[in-house]
Amino acid sequence: MVRVAVLENDRCVNGESCSFVCGNVCPVNRAGKECITLPEDRDNSAKRLVPIISEELCIGCNICVQKCPVDCIYIENLVQELKESPVQRFGENAFRIYRLPAVKGGGVTGLIGRNGIGKSTILKILAGQIIPNLGDWKKKGDYDSVISFFRGKELQNYFGALKEGGTKVSYKPQNITDIPKVFKGNVKGLLEKAARPEKLSEISRELNIEKILGRDLSALSGGELQRVAIAACALREADFYAFDEPTSYLDVRERLNCAHVIRSVAQGERGVVLIEHDLAVLDYLSDYIHLLYGKKGVYGIVSNPKSTRNGINEFLEGYVHDENVRFRREELRFEVKPSADYRKKKVAATYPAMEKSFSGFSLHVDEGDLREAEVIGVLGPNGTGKTTFVKMLAGLESPDGKKSGLDFKVSYKPQYLVAQPGITVGEFLDSQNIDKSLYRNEVDRRLSITELQHHRLDELSGGELQKVAVGVCLSRLDSDVILLDEPSAFVDVEDRLNIANAIRSVVDSKRKVAMVVDHDLLFQDYVSDRLMVFEGEPSVKGVCHNALPMREGMNLFLKGLGITYRRDGQTGRPRINKAGSQMDEDQKKKGEYYYTV
Ligand code: SF4
Ligand code: SF4
Repeated sequence: MVRVAVLENDRCVNGESCSFVCGNVCPVNRAGKECITLPEDRDNSAKRLVPIISEELCIGCNICVQKCPVDCIYIENLVQELKESPVQRFGENAFRIYRLPAVKGGGVTGLIGRNGIGKSTILKILAGQIIPNLGDWKKKGDYDSVISFFRGKELQNYFGALKEGGTKVSYKPQNITDIPKVFKGNVKGLLEKAARPEKLSEISRELNIEKILGRDLSALSGGELQRVAIAACALREADFYAFDEPTSYLDVRERLNCAHVIRSVAQGERGVVLIEHDLAVLDYLSDYIHLLYGKKGVYGIVSNPKSTRNGINEFLEGYVHDENVRFRREELRFEVKPSADYRKKKVAATYPAMEKSFSGFSLHVDEGDLREAEVIGVLGPNGTGKTTFVKMLAGLESPDGKKSGLDFKVSYKPQYLVAQPGITVGEFLDSQNIDKSLYRNEVDRRLSITELQHHRLDELSGGELQKVAVGVCLSRLDSDVILLDEPSAFVDVEDRLNIANAIRSVVDSKRKVAMVVDHDLLFQDYVSDRLMVFEGEPSVKGVCHNALPMREGMNLFLKGLGITYRRDGQTGRPRINKAGSQMDEDQKKKGEYYYTV
């Protein structure tokens, strides 16, 4: 049995509020062996001594995990006997990755898996930013050892060329907010540094950044910066392209445009590897899929390559067929819901027609109603006023010329989250006015926020902070209407569906109403009963009518984009039809852009 012991060094409080509890309770230690030990501190200079766990001696009883006061120990038995050693290991009791994806020229390879399971590290290894240490964390990695480790595999040649400088890599990182700090100047200046200037106007047009070429990078919104980062990566002359979460901040049309650009890069011998949590985009873009499974923050294993359909379906199933490994107990399924007649539901709240104008932008919203136990999805291009509308319902913005006159209580989660500094998740939850039993039974059961209770709020990842914010918003006492602005941002595929289940569960059990602004179509399909579709010209004008039944709403929205969806026979998940295919043509003729049942 291969056992992995991980200890989060920076969270251990040995010598402060803990006196080496793990070492004292470990039965192997108590039997006289040295399973959990403290490092030597001969000159008494260490501020804090963090224990070391021997994976060879550990018997996997989990007593230390249960007794650690800050939950910073993880003991895991690997899901199978792995014959190979890790490709990368960050320390003795630290995260490790087993295997790497194959890099195939002339195609797009997608990586799918939970956050914290090593996807970004893998991309950095393939991009040449990390030389893997092959499990020996005490020494720096070197390419000769890596090449011999992968002897006989495609990766042998890949790393050989990387070592000799024969492989040029273009890499779009996950975190794009640092770009304006590293590169000073305007968009055009950044893009002209790329080596394929002949493609600049074509890619700028595809990504709709022509109008912002003269703008300073520091003045761009998240969505604009993302599109510029994609353009900069695609314009470089390279053999291998790596895109880490290219669709964050983008609306649905922008996601499709970005997909076209990435596809256009994977020509000839050029290969692309992509990390993406929007399943519809991943499905549309990828030629092959590698699943990443394991335990968040502890270890990640890369599966063999699979066809896109099989890879995504196996991920949803939670079962890797060719390795006979189940990595999740429950299957994630998309129910094909018949569109219920919303008019039979009781009206829970109404809002009047509203207008709002500011700095060259105007928004018109028709009057509307919200029905009991209903989730309303909100879709539309960036810059057409969705967030402004939700803020008016939340009472944070006033409509022009009058008070909003709304008489319902709201619980609101904003689009951009700011973590309160200096407190733990547990302390933050204690300070909130939440329904504890609702939180425990409907929210935490699905989002596992309690696992984070000892973590500092301002040290959470974007996805973890999002889950905490959504959890509090759903559980707040004294609220009739729940307003969630982009709850899937920074969250991995699995937690997107967990969030969708938590929303449904709170709304159904408490007969509340939720309004959800989000650009992930599968997420909206999974959670919504009706749809509000925003139309207009981004940053100039936005118009929105009352919510439509799902079928009509999706047809209206997708007709505007010119794309159709079909359902996967096995999982029920929606898949984008290839443009011009028989199915695409037939559905367009019938006016059925989304539902075919
Ligand atoms: S899980 Fe391992 S390290 Fe922890 S108490 Fe049990 S034997 Fe000791
Ligand atoms: S029980 Fe936890 S906090 Fe205490 S010494 Fe062990 S790892 Fe550190």
